[in-house]
Amino acid sequence: MPINRNLTSEQILLRESVRKFAEEVIKPKALEYDEKEEFSYEITNQMAEMGFLGAFLPEEYGGSGLDYLSYIIVVEELARIDGSQAATVAAHNSLGIGPIYNFGSQEQKEKYLPQLAAGKLWGFGLTEQEAGSDAGNTQTRAYEDFNDWIINGSKIFITNASTDITLGSTILTVSGQQHDGRKEFTSIIVENGTPGYETREMSGKMMWRASNTSELYLHDCRVPITNTLGKKGDGFKQMLATLDKGRLSIAAMGLGLAQGAFELALKYAKERKTFGRAISTYQANAFKLADIEMGLELARNYLYDVCRMLDNGEKITKEGAIAKLYCSELAHTAANHCVQILGGYGLMKEYGAEKYYRNQKLLEIGEGTSEIQRLVISRMIGCYD
Ligand SMILES: Cc1cc2nc3c(=O)[nH]c(=O)nc-3n(C[C@H](O)[C@H](O)[C@H](O)COP(=O)(O)OP(=O)(O)OC[C@H]3O[C@@H](n4cnc5c(N)ncnc54)[C@H](O)[C@@H]3O)c2cc1C
Repeated sequence: MPINRNLTSEQILLRESVRKFAEEVIKPKALEYDEKEEFSYEITNQMAEMGFLGAFLPEEYGGSGLDYLSYIIVVEELARIDGSQAATVAAHNSLGIGPIYNFGSQEQKEKYLPQLAAGKLWGFGLTEQEAGSDAGNTQTRAYEDFNDWIINGSKIFITNASTDITLGSTILTVSGQQHDGRKEFTSIIVENGTPGYETREMSGKMMWRASNTSELYLHDCRVPITNTLGKKGDGFKQMLATLDKGRLSIAAMGLGLAQGAFELALKYAKERKTFGRAISTYQANAFKLADIEMGLELARNYLYDVCRMLDNGEKITKEGAIAKLYCSELAHTAANHCVQILGGYGLMKEYGAEKYYRNQKLLEIGEGTSEIQRLVISRMIGCYD
């Protein structure tokens, strides 16, 4: 199968088992949770049992010890069936576990990582009302008071931050000024239940309706200095490094969604007849399907290649941005073509195309909008030097 080209036998087996799980466990319930806009503890628990919540964590922390490419295959296969469940897993691994594993102290790793691999969740609080694309405009402040941080501010749109099984979040703060007068950023761990820290679930989303999204409020919230993630002043650098990798999981969600939309559209086009012929035999539809197939081949090979670069320890800032941009725009095209090929049925919930159509939109916005990806790429090729 072309989707397994150049994969190891372990990676092929992994894909089969995730696909089976997504088809048998998630698919029958996905639309119901989406309609009710409800986070599923039951499915999250089952995903934890499958090892998806500690996908790339080494076994010493209770993780599955997967390489990054294998983790990306997990996200891709979940997104083929349901964006919300894929979002829970992708945000938890890339944004929740990633920073603690990459920058945390040994004590922090030992305290949190085994629990996060076993089924507890963790958020990554970067975005604020005045700081989305413009993360440098972060307003949340932290100052030192003897052996504590006192934090004030708020965050918005934070995935996984307010479920009953969320342990805490990593919060990006402005902690002072650097020698050159620029802001100093520090990432601080804040556990749910800390006095002065409140999480509120957001509702009314168009997409990922069964994933948890939250507003966070910090009012004179006091946490020990030992909750600093890595070094004081390293927050912005950590955030950029986290997003470089996180973008690959958004790319995987785009690829998986496009694959799901493609399979649905192709099957329908071969079965649906108008004027006595299957609609797949009309060139207008056949060319749409050909275009998606071309996009899938290119997207998959490129994304997997970037994952291999990452697994080899290479820097992937430009390549990650390209993969995220390409896969999310492919998902947009594929979902649009899928609805069009299904005609009126494409607009009805029970046929599945409309959920792909809604879910793809976040991929062009979250973890850096398409415009910001183009900015990253154009900077990397020296346009503004
Ligand atoms: C469901 C969901 C889950 C999320 N999960 C998380 C999470 O877990 N953690 C977290 O920290 N954040 C999260 N986010 C936030 C997300 O990353 C931001 O929404 C995103 O980065 C865009 O920021 P913004 O919404 O403030 O848009 P803005 O930055 O206000 O951008 C608005 C528009 O202007 C464009 N624009 C802005 N600046 C430029 C520029 N310089 N050049 C060209 N165009 C520009 C943008 O591309 C966009 O089209 C989530 C968002 C959603 C909706």
